[in-house]
Amino acid sequence: MRRLRNVKIVATLGPASSDYKMIRALFEAGADVFRLNMSHGTHAEQAARHAIIRQVEADTGRPIAILADLQGPKLRVGVFANPAGEELVEGADFRMDLSSTPGDATRVQLPHPEIFAALEPGASLLVNDGKIRVRVKDCGRDYANCVVEVGGMISNRKGVNVPDVVLPLAALSAKDREDLEFACELGVDWLALSFVQRPEDVIEARQLARGRASILSKIEKPAAVKAYDAILRVSDGIMVARGDLGVELPVTSVPPIQKRLVRGARAAAKPVIVATQMLESMIEAPVPTRAEVSDVATAIYEGADAIMLSAESAAGKYPIEAVTTMNNVALSVEKDPTYRQVIEASRVVHRETIADGIVAAAREIAEATNIKAIVCFSLTGNTAALVARERPRVPIIALTPLMSSARRMALTWGAHCAITEPQERFKGAVLAAVHAARVDGFAGVEDMIVVTAGVPFNVKGTTNILRVAPCDERLISSVDPE
Ligand code: PGA
Ligand code: MN
Repeated sequence: MRRLRNVKIVATLGPASSDYKMIRALFEAGADVFRLNMSHGTHAEQAARHAIIRQVEADTGRPIAILADLQGPKLRVGVFANPAGEELVEGADFRMDLSSTPGDATRVQLPHPEIFAALEPGASLLVNDGKIRVRVKDCGRDYANCVVEVGGMISNRKGVNVPDVVLPLAALSAKDREDLEFACELGVDWLALSFVQRPEDVIEARQLARGRASILSKIEKPAAVKAYDAILRVSDGIMVARGDLGVELPVTSVPPIQKRLVRGARAAAKPVIVATQMLESMIEAPVPTRAEVSDVATAIYEGADAIMLSAESAAGKYPIEAVTTMNNVALSVEKDPTYRQVIEASRVVHRETIADGIVAAAREIAEATNIKAIVCFSLTGNTAALVARERPRVPIIALTPLMSSARRMALTWGAHCAITEPQERFKGAVLAAVHAARVDGFAGVEDMIVVTAGVPFNVKGTTNILRVAPCDERLISSVDPE
């Protein structure tokens, strides 16, 4: 089984997508990566979804990545005496404090002492996905007196964003630490960190994960946008988390930030996901709007590794249609000649290492001739990521003996991952590459492929061989050295 597109699709699972039949249908419609959102649902529910995904993987024989998304230091107000909440009107005073007394139209609890310590007069607080904005007039250790600048309904436990302040919050809450350990023990492939503010946040999570999962930083705070280069350096992947980004910053600044983040991640050969509201109207409707199709297409033209569904697949009425829509948009964009021009014009030329040179040469040889695929042996997925950075016109087949690497690579642009025996000899590796290309229909017996590998085998970071090979095993056996 092979996909006919390069961009990958991430589908978030939730109440609308938790049984085997639905998860299998989402995979068949095109989902390459499943996201477990740790902000919702119990550990038992996440474990059940995880087991079903692994069953789908076993039944289809294709490696699937599972991404556990940690909630992060999400701030919330306390509760109100009136369960329906209160309406805040523009110009009114509104106080936030540490008292657990139920709130009313004049005040509510904000149970985060560290926020009061960091606030200053003039800072804005955004409530309920940015729908309400209040500005701090004066504040102290346990309170902030604010004035309502944009009114609206506020109710129990609504989320609070504080865009102007680098919050002195631990990167990972107690809940995040528990969720992280749980997800790693379950065997997820990627951990996504919400509300990353500094590179140290990522380093801390990496220490806790101890190699059990790769670390993806969600860029959704102004501080993270500022520190992007340093955060990218210590992350294994990036998510352009447009939902909270569009609350913390003006929504009009999201498209240029998206472009910058995608370019940066592509240059670093690290997978980047464009996320949130991509097909929002499909939560309720079986067809997308023109604007949504255009948004999905834009991310693909930018060369993002992956595009993501959130509520559309987790809680919407049409999860399968949403994945199918993304798949069809990708097929349409990727066959557009302008797509190739845009992708090639935005390719990053990085030629520092032997591996950089080998993958660039592999692409040039493949594109200049009638070669059907680039097959790379990649123990950790790093070489596959370098090949993907080239954004070649021919398919990429990534071979690894490690299931964990194959799964992680499911997020990488264009990488068709497959498991292979650990190689001992060069001839055996070429034969395995030919087999992989033929078994999934990338090449026929008359065709040629390019193979990249590293000798010694099974040592990471050794890519140093490039071989153009015929797909006829008899020819290989007669000419290749042992
Ligand atoms: P979330 O993250 O869905 O976990 O909030 C994505 C975003 O903010 O866009
Ligand atoms: Mn978010």
